[in-house]
Amino acid sequence: MPDPKGFLRYDRRLPRRRPVSVRIQDWREVYPPAGEALIREQAARCMDCGVPFCHDACPLGNRIPDWNDLVRTDGWDTAIEALHATNNFPEWTGRLCPAPCEAACVLGIGGGQPVTIKQVEVEIIDRAFDAGLVAPQPAPAPSGRTVAVVGSGPAGLAAAQQLARAGHAVTVYERDDALGGLLRYGIPDFKLEKQHIDRRLDQLRAEGVRFVAGVDVGRDISAAKLRERHDAVLLACGALAGRDMPTTPGRAKVGIHRAMEHLVAANRAVAGGPEPAITAAGRHVVIIGGGDTAADCLGVAHRQGAAAVTQLDIYPEPPSTRDEERDPWPVWPWILRSYPAHEEGGERVFAVAVQEFVGDDRVRAIRLAEVTVERHEGRRIVTPVPGTERELPADLVLLAIGFSGTDAVAALDQLGVPLDPSGAVDCGPDWQTGVDGVFVAGDMHRGASLIVWAIAEGRAAAAGVHAYLGGDGSLPAPVTPGAQPLGRR
Ligand SMILES: Cc1cc2nc3c(=O)[nH]c(=O)nc-3n(C[C@H](O)[C@H](O)[C@H](O)COP(=O)(O)OP(=O)(O)OC[C@H]3O[C@@H](n4cnc5c(N)ncnc54)[C@H](O)[C@@H]3O)c2cc1C
Ligand code: SF4
Repeated sequence: MPDPKGFLRYDRRLPRRRPVSVRIQDWREVYPPAGEALIREQAARCMDCGVPFCHDACPLGNRIPDWNDLVRTDGWDTAIEALHATNNFPEWTGRLCPAPCEAACVLGIGGGQPVTIKQVEVEIIDRAFDAGLVAPQPAPAPSGRTVAVVGSGPAGLAAAQQLARAGHAVTVYERDDALGGLLRYGIPDFKLEKQHIDRRLDQLRAEGVRFVAGVDVGRDISAAKLRERHDAVLLACGALAGRDMPTTPGRAKVGIHRAMEHLVAANRAVAGGPEPAITAAGRHVVIIGGGDTAADCLGVAHRQGAAAVTQLDIYPEPPSTRDEERDPWPVWPWILRSYPAHEEGGERVFAVAVQEFVGDDRVRAIRLAEVTVERHEGRRIVTPVPGTERELPADLVLLAIGFSGTDAVAALDQLGVPLDPSGAVDCGPDWQTGVDGVFVAGDMHRGASLIVWAIAEGRAAAAGVHAYLGGDGSLPAPVTPGAQPLGRR
């Protein structure tokens, strides 16, 4: 029985972030640990609603009210079991998920303050690691079947763990020199320190998963070889083909880069690699785009010592609170989202589009115009407002304008798996592509999305592979291939 008055007694409170002046001097995570008293208080705000909408909003179906009540009553050891029952890697979602569960929390109705679900999640798993409660769970007996997982992001790793625990011999192939997908060199350490990946990899190894890094499937090993070696293949190669602006005048000038070129080089340097070739130090940086990638570029630019940073968004500034007509509770609302990186400085400019990159060899400025954006038959129509053009100084420009699907085309060609028009790979209800024994999960299937969806798809696709291999019983499948965020059709 939850505390019926917890939400009346306590306001929503998050732990204090590290001060901006301190944290931009280093690459450590922005949040210090929250402390037990605060988390138990916050968990006590959960009402354990008869119909917990937070469950439905979480693609993993995390049993949120169960673990909130366990935390409230000091049952941390049981709480981690409840959390792991649905989520292989809560230390990643607890740090990085945008928390659609919180948007669907009943306490948020009418502008109220939802439970700090994601903060409770991360504290449960961090405490469990500290207490030595996250032990390997090797399968009791081998199944005699083998699976190749291509890609070591959250989708590939979730699938690998599920399949290894079911007794299958799993090998994960990764083209990068280090494992973890976008979590390794895409997402900066100030959002996720890399020991949170490494200790999970140790667990997976102890459960029997084999990792082969530095091997690009389709180039270093043929897809035919992979199929010969394994009874099933699961593709989890992400959606890493970055969008560009090839038709914008001046795009070829020096100093204009895709965001990932900047982020990956910076994150590699933090991991002990060479100094990045692209640095924001002393530069007037302009970031084009408004999502996670843009915010990560912003945080990196400040840590590298940028002279000024401006973030441009083509869309108008969203409202600060939910527009009930447009996005009624409990759907994910269109609101202004500010990341910790936005506290650290920089200016955000909305409803503008780049008309030209200006300069000689190197970019010196951006000519931009205010715009309106409309949708017509699924297409985006951007119209400049006459007389609004102006120049913005810019000697480093980062394009964070999204991804256009997978870039693992060689492997797909060799397997005979087609791409859909959005650059994603389609599959049947069992996650099998049109090719027998070849499955797909994560961003490669869904298009660029979120970690929580990647883990959910990895788990569900593992269930499909397990059934295909004739494994005993069934594995949990939290989502179907057509699943959409709560409220979206
Ligand atoms: C900068 C940035 C910040 C983000 N921040 C957040 C966030 O804060 N919260 C959130 O929820 N989501 C965030 N995302 C999205 C999230 O990272 C992805 O949705 C998630 O990582 C997808 O997981 P995945 O396993 O499908 O693919 P990925 O993580 O992309 O992993 C795919 C892996 O496959 C490998 N691969 C590809 N082709 C081959 C091949 N032929 N052979 C071998 N290996 C191959 C790649 O090298 C890569 O390691 C962010 C994305 C970016 C780009
Ligand atoms: S994974 Fe995301 S949606 Fe699910 S409970 Fe955690 S924060 Fe909420």
